[in-house]
Amino acid sequence: MKAILVLAAALLLPVAAASPPAAPRPDWDWPLSPKPAVLRAFDPPDKPWMSGHRGVDLGAAHDGVPVTSPASGTVSFVGVVVDRPVITIDHGDGLRSSFEPVVSPLTAGSLVAKGDVIGTLQPGHCGAVPCVHWGVRRADNYVNPLEFVTDLRPSILLPVIRAGPVSGHSVTWVDAAPVITG
Ligand SMILES: [Zn+2]
Repeated sequence: MKAILVLAAALLLPVAAASPPAAPRPDWDWPLSPKPAVLRAFDPPDKPWMSGHRGVDLGAAHDGVPVTSPASGTVSFVGVVVDRPVITIDHGDGLRSSFEPVVSPLTAGSLVAKGDVIGTLQPGHCGAVPCVHWGVRRADNYVNPLEFVTDLRPSILLPVIRAGPVSGHSVTWVDAAPVITG
């Protein structure tokens, strides 16, 4: 967990200087309804060849529920990877979502809108607990899917803003980062 937060802070710092960090995007929504619980968080490996969790696991009411596209896009892949049914949506701007284990009647090239059903959840990713694995890549890098549907700022920024003076938010945040990550 410490590594995740350190990495998150490192990734967010440059963004914070240029624009508001990690605001959710109104053109994206959760791929399950109702809003699912996050059963396993994004945990990218330190090195590409190492193990990690390149996405988030979202809890479902039961296997067989519909999985919906979190944003508009084009289906770029439907098939089986190793032993898991996978569907990938290309959202443009270098962003691609992948879902597994999800079987889909769609084929590559199909256009989807946000909220369109793209397939049905299969069992197995979280053992006996129904869940869908959602990964998002920006170009070739996996990013945290939650940044598109959740405001990730409060857990990092709000305690600092409340505690700090009005001036120098970014400096205060940097100073406070070890407290948050430690
Ligand atoms: Zn997973």
